[in-house]
Amino acid sequence: MRAGARCFTHDRGRVTAAKVRGMMKAMHTTAELTRARDLVAGATRIVAMTGAGISTESGIPDFRGPNGVWTNNPAAQRMFTLQSYVSDPEVRVQSWQLRSRHAAWSAEPNPAHHALVELERDGRLAAIITQNIDRLHQRAGSDPGLVIELHGTMFETVCLSCADRREMRETLDRVEAGEADPACLDCGGILKSATISFGQALNADVLQRGRDAARSCDLMLVAGSSLTVHPAAGLVGQAADAGADVLVCNASATPYDDLAAAVLREPLSEMLPALL
Ligand code: NAD
Repeated sequence: MRAGARCFTHDRGRVTAAKVRGMMKAMHTTAELTRARDLVAGATRIVAMTGAGISTESGIPDFRGPNGVWTNNPAAQRMFTLQSYVSDPEVRVQSWQLRSRHAAWSAEPNPAHHALVELERDGRLAAIITQNIDRLHQRAGSDPGLVIELHGTMFETVCLSCADRREMRETLDRVEAGEADPACLDCGGILKSATISFGQALNADVLQRGRDAARSCDLMLVAGSSLTVHPAAGLVGQAADAGADVLVCNASATPYDDLAAAVLREPLSEMLPALL
């Protein structure tokens, strides 16, 4: 046998390089999880920064994960750009169809959302800054007053001309009754979901709440975000600059991993409950 090609234990059969790598990964994960648990246990003012990845296990695809909407269809990005939406009626027609069959209408919160509710009951969660538009945090039982929806909500519409806001359901009823691109009932302007598209400014007050929360926490817990969308992602750096520890729980690498005190890559529905 070639030296070094294989190794054997006394009584458990062959140990392959893949198994060794697996064992080392498990040891690394255990050490990292211990570090992460210590961070959570030692914190008194935790702010969670959540992204689309916390809802994938509820059946809502993210944008940039392995099964993400854009990973599978890069052209879909156009649907989420304000300029395309305003200038191209066909983009609006397709957007209304997407909204009508969006997975969030039937999705249920998963154990990761529930873990944040537990943390809140424990008195240590100061806020959830979410980039999500699916309201699953509130549905899981998080105090709506603690949820900062940086990118708005898909459950309301807004008129781009007069800012009239209504329940999304009301407008989808019009779509289902045959209006392919329903206009504002007050002024005839273009209607859109009350979400932030690329190229659209965030609500200044909501962003300020996010900044205040980020700058006053002692632990910034990132859950399920690629941290590539700004200004949301920048709040993690602001928390770190203000002295908070950063804990990143995300399946793939983020630009903020290097400043994190711990990084967990496993599925959030397992990792967040394991942190408590
Ligand atoms: P993103 O798609 O850029 O990144 C999601 C990240 O989550 C990826 O890095 C992926 O590896 C990770 N991930 C996916 N499933 C995971 C799991 N089960 N466990 C651990 N990690 C997991 O999403 P983003 O950073 O939130 O930014 C994209 C934008 O998309 C946001 O502005 C958001 O408004 C919008 N969005 C929201 C929803 C939603 O509301 N559920 C869904 C899609 C997109």
